[in-house]
Amino acid sequence: MQYFEYLKDADPNLFKILSKDAEELSHIIGVIFSDAREVYVDGVRKYACVKCGNIHDRKFRANDCRYSDLGLKPYLCRGSCGLSSCKKGYSSKRLLNRHCEYDQVKKCGRCGRYQSKQNFARHTSLCQT
Ligand SMILES: [Zn+2]
Ligand SMILES: [Zn+2]
Ligand SMILES: [Zn+2]
Repeated sequence: MQYFEYLKDADPNLFKILSKDAEELSHIIGVIFSDAREVYVDGVRKYACVKCGNIHDRKFRANDCRYSDLGLKPYLCRGSCGLSSCKKGYSSKRLLNRHCEYDQVKKCGRCGRYQSKQNFARHTSLCQT
């Protein structure tokens, strides 16, 4: 923090940028750690995204919404799709599930190469090595 004070005099421009980023960061952290707000629409309980205010039926959807608003992708594949080195990340559980379902890869028993799920049937019928 002392360095911060020093910077204020030494480099006011950089200080301004840094404190703006810090402000933004604390805003982002605030959004991440606050849960979706309960709202009632025609007497039905719904959930409002803390970032954009969009109304969602389910709490987890409202919470996922704030991730995509912030451009965050906290749902990591970690190999759930079948490719152990997969490092893809998604902003919602739904998108991650879709990736695992559609982008899933399978190892061909004959050539040992990974094939996407869509290609797998075609590949095994062609793969003769
Ligand atoms: Zn949102
Ligand atoms: Zn994956
Ligand atoms: Zn093969």
